Amino acid sequence: MHWSEAIARDIVAKRNVKQHVVATGITPSGDIHVGNLREIIVAEAVHTALVDLNVDARLIYVADTFDPLRRRYPFLPQEYEAHVGKPLSEIPDPYGCHPSYADHFVQPFLDSLEILGIELEVFRADALYTSGRYVATIKEALAKKNDLARIITEVSGRDLPADWSPFNPLCERCGRINAAKVTGYDLEQEVVYYTCACGNTGVASLRGGGKLAWRVDWAARWQILGVTVEPFGKDHASPGGSFDTGKRISEELYNYPAPYPIPFEHILLKLDKAGEKATVTAMSSSRGTNIPVYQMLEAVPPEILKYVIARVWPDKHIEFNPGLPLLNLVDAYEREVGGIGRGVAAAIPFRHLITLVQIARADFTTLLEVIKRSGYEIHEANEAELVDIQQKARYVENWLRIYAPEHVKFEVQSELPVEAIKQLSATQKKALALFAQALQGETNLSAEEWHNIFYAVAAQVTAEVKEIFKAVYIALLGKPSGPRAGWLLASLDTDFLRTRFEAAVKL
Ligand SMILES: [Zn+2]
Ligand SMILES: [Zn+2]
Repeated sequence: MHWSEAIARDIVAKRNVKQHVVATGITPSGDIHVGNLREIIVAEAVHTALVDLNVDARLIYVADTFDPLRRRYPFLPQEYEAHVGKPLSEIPDPYGCHPSYADHFVQPFLDSLEILGIELEVFRADALYTSGRYVATIKEALAKKNDLARIITEVSGRDLPADWSPFNPLCERCGRINAAKVTGYDLEQEVVYYTCACGNTGVASLRGGGKLAWRVDWAARWQILGVTVEPFGKDHASPGGSFDTGKRISEELYNYPAPYPIPFEHILLKLDKAGEKATVTAMSSSRGTNIPVYQMLEAVPPEILKYVIARVWPDKHIEFNPGLPLLNLVDAYEREVGGIGRGVAAAIPFRHLITLVQIARADFTTLLEVIKRSGYEIHEANEAELVDIQQKARYVENWLRIYAPEHVKFEVQSELPVEAIKQLSATQKKALALFAQALQGETNLSAEEWHNIFYAVAAQVTAEVKEIFKAVYIALLGKPSGPRAGWLLASLDTDFLRTRFEAAVKL
């Protein structure tokens, strides 16, 4: 049983409601990355499992657009120092291409979700506040401030200052949402009075003139949106942490049962460094140790990214290595689930395409020839098939450019690599001569036929087959290693191969 089904069954057994609402929430303070994506993938898997159990369920995403900018992150220009403390929805886009800072990071993420085929209802925190959906919960929080403070202290062990308020007013002078203190309120008028660190005193509306402190906000949101299931990072799940606090606030203040929690482990980013030990770091947008979702989707198909995350139980961490290990997972996917793309695109394994694309030097027309030469039939009239080949080739090109280790990369040398060929032994040259002979009068040999020839030639010259592989790589690529030799030879032109081998022998 997939973990999502096990969790869905447990949810149904523990909470009987007409409709389940599976909620996610991510703050768009920087690029929303592959680590953040786990929350969505977990939620989507559980949502799907609930629906499969014939349970009515919704999947929602709240973009925390009303959170303040915590500090000036390294990717922000100096002048953004002035925006620290303002809600992300009220700060200009640092790159100038979207209506706000929040939009700059939310929009590409939503686009990525569409590519991933994940459908969810999107809410924006700033809109939830300004539309007044929070008003009742804010009033409740203000009126029962002392109970709230007591709960937070009891659960977290943290003493709150005497002037603490569950509501953080948005100062109309400096625009910050984390600098003003509430001095009084009028629940009838739905306003709070405040003085701000900037010297301003003012009146703030409960409709968008501020937001609830985050632990209170989380609990209020459960009730407002009817949340019954929520995955969140395991750091919120620690005893005395934000989920424990939210649960008590929700139950004691809002009379609403806290959602079924699904704490999940982090995704760690593992990067191979040539000649060094691989580095493993937690993904973090502010520290720049992350891969934005949109960027990853340029180098791997969406089904792969989903597969990589969804195959692991939420309580197990994932070491995400976008280099060779990712390629192994692509292999596993193609074996277990099926080919990527339609028609011939699906038939060509991703790993094989890595060889073909490099032989074709990223030229699409050449790529089609190379594909045909390696034994695949392309239906030129089938537009969808061509589109898929092109798309899959684009993933391959980007993966090669950004994540591939050096030893995976190669270039078929258009000129005879003279210096490299000087390293060949007499036996290796004899082998190349036999290869040239095997090509006399032959049209195209398949990868498997080539494979057999390698062993036959090795036996004939009494050498180890790996020496023969080396000789071929050197003659073609100018280096002693390369992609699977059968694939390589099968996709190259016969005349080219024969001429090359003969020239190498003569040298
Ligand atoms: Zn932008
Ligand atoms: Zn102010």
